[in-house]
Amino acid sequence: MSATPPMNYVGHTFDAPFWDGCLTHRFLLHRCTICERDYWPASTCIEHGSKSMEWTESSGAGVVHTYTVVHHAYTPEWADKIPYALAVVRLTEGPFFHTNIVGCAPADVHVGMEVTVFWDDIDADVTIPRFAPITPHSTSTNKDNRD
Ligand SMILES: [Zn+2]
Repeated sequence: MSATPPMNYVGHTFDAPFWDGCLTHRFLLHRCTICERDYWPASTCIEHGSKSMEWTESSGAGVVHTYTVVHHAYTPEWADKIPYALAVVRLTEGPFFHTNIVGCAPADVHVGMEVTVFWDDIDADVTIPRFAPITPHSTSTNKDNRD
């Protein structure tokens, strides 16, 4: 599977446990220990405040809620990366997660597609969670399947 932008992220102290979990391929959500509602990114339970929050491992599965296919390279170094699919995945646990869909042609991505996390190990310090179809798709024959 070829690399897909973005290739890095801007970390934040609140979300550091999430990114540390990615390094060991654990998809963590911020869960309220009282009502068990899951949040992403790091948050405070709307009912029980911040003291009840802890990081817990999730299923790493969800469905495509919405998506777009990027066909324009905004800088020259991205020219060989297009087209690629950006998506909002609704995780099984409830939160929405902004990501890329990989493992199928961008033209095959669709709303409602069942996906699971795909760990893209960029280097020793950065692993980016992307999502891939649970059931491999046959490749499309349209222009989005050039490579
Ligand atoms: Zn709660």
